[in-house]
Amino acid sequence: MRPIRKVLVANRGEIACRIIACCQAMGIQTATVFSEADRASRHVLDASEAICIGPAPSRQSYLDIGKVIDAARRSGADAIHPGYGFLSENADFAAACEEAGILFIGPPPAAIRALGSKTAARQLVSTHGVPLVPGVQEPLSSATDGLAIARQIGFPVLIKAAAGGGGKGMRVVRSADEFAPAFERASSEAAASFGNSAVYVEKYLASPRHVEIQVMADSHGNAIYLGERECSVQRRHQKLLEETPSVCVDPEMRRRMGEAALAAVRAAGYTNLGTVEFLVDANREFYFLEVNTRLQVEHPVTEAVTGLDLVREQLHIAAGGRLSLRQEDVAPRGHAIECRILAEDPFDGFVPSPGRIRVYKEPRAPWLRVDTGVYAGYEVSLYYDPLLAKLIAWGPDRPTAVARMQDALRDYVIEGIRTTIPFHLLLLENAEFQAGNLATDFIDRHMEIERSGGSRRHRDVAAIAAAWLRGARGAAPAQAPAATRATSGWKLAALGAGRRPWA
Ligand code: ADP
Repeated sequence: MRPIRKVLVANRGEIACRIIACCQAMGIQTATVFSEADRASRHVLDASEAICIGPAPSRQSYLDIGKVIDAARRSGADAIHPGYGFLSENADFAAACEEAGILFIGPPPAAIRALGSKTAARQLVSTHGVPLVPGVQEPLSSATDGLAIARQIGFPVLIKAAAGGGGKGMRVVRSADEFAPAFERASSEAAASFGNSAVYVEKYLASPRHVEIQVMADSHGNAIYLGERECSVQRRHQKLLEETPSVCVDPEMRRRMGEAALAAVRAAGYTNLGTVEFLVDANREFYFLEVNTRLQVEHPVTEAVTGLDLVREQLHIAAGGRLSLRQEDVAPRGHAIECRILAEDPFDGFVPSPGRIRVYKEPRAPWLRVDTGVYAGYEVSLYYDPLLAKLIAWGPDRPTAVARMQDALRDYVIEGIRTTIPFHLLLLENAEFQAGNLATDFIDRHMEIERSGGSRRHRDVAAIAAAWLRGARGAAPAQAPAATRATSGWKLAALGAGRRPWA
């Protein structure tokens, strides 16, 4: 085993704080990096040491490989944890760490490369018996070529960026005449977002579920799966709420999905933590989507039911350790739900809502966990991801976990900016949600939240209900209707910002 004495956490926000806390609990020293906009961020306060690596734009700070490696050297760190987003799935960064003699806490660069491109990953896993969403394995050479393939697959189809992430560079095409313009738009969006214009085409599944498998592999040939997470509640292909187990997965299906996920990562020579994403259709057939070669935002729900600390496992595996448990030892207990609390106004098209958090009070209960990087007085900027916090509730069964989450959301006070808390309250009281009838188009089909006319009524109803419930419990009311709206100037500046490429 290679000892890890000091970890540089190359990230920010809640995930940096979560990793720093884990290292501290393990007696490992911590250092972190920050941009000029993040001087007062909690990860800077939490780590023993923090190094400024440049101005606010990520390209000049958190995404600059040279600056991050230099910071690791200066701090004397022997390992780097990349978190999620930023450089976490960048094979060149993982290779640069290796060259600098610093341990990269994640899979080997070759495995990241093999799975990083959606087309390369499809090619690789298809030869190992993993069922794919019907489509091609190679990038399209032209719109004409693509149209011919789309006709074979049958409309609707989805044009996707090979290097995609965060739902960018994705276009649904419902008929032949829509194909060429959609191809052009997807290619240019892919070029702008990922520096790679390659796109491919696959069947657009109707109302699928998104179900993913958490896997863990060591460098001694052991690999296990830790069950699934249902992430079907999405807006524009970005997850808003995740839970485990999925109501649609029974033990037999879990075993088959788990085996398929292990086949996918084994094919790539994978080690460390990873997530294999699948779409599930109405017949409960599952199809490989992609592999995320890093810690996921939603990893806490798996931790809640397995009792594992996945970051601790990551460090242990990276240091050369063997998996701490066998497949037969994995015995998930109960049900866990995570709500992503974003600095966005759910009643105004989820527009970013930057500003100062005036009042901040977290809910507390034995079955709750809050992962956050914010505090009262913290200024939420437009530069980075709008994720303020993740609220995780555990219960012995799904209805109890839902009820506990509802209580927790009502007790969560964040004043000064708009958040997605009222959205989650509406979602959790939705009868279809409670019945577990989920699909990736759930919000469009079952929630009127963004439709004109309904928005103000919903905003007010949710705010009044939350304030009333807090009042009934003797706490101060929060998020009164239209109290602290972001100005239109902020909103204009914010449009198009805040996408989450790792969501
Ligand atoms: P990204 O890497 O950009 O997040 P993914 O391939 O992981 O893209 O897909 C993100 C989401 O987009 C999925 O969870 C699902 O909602 C939707 N999606 C992707 N591919 C398909 C498909 N073939 N059919 C229907 N929905 C899809």
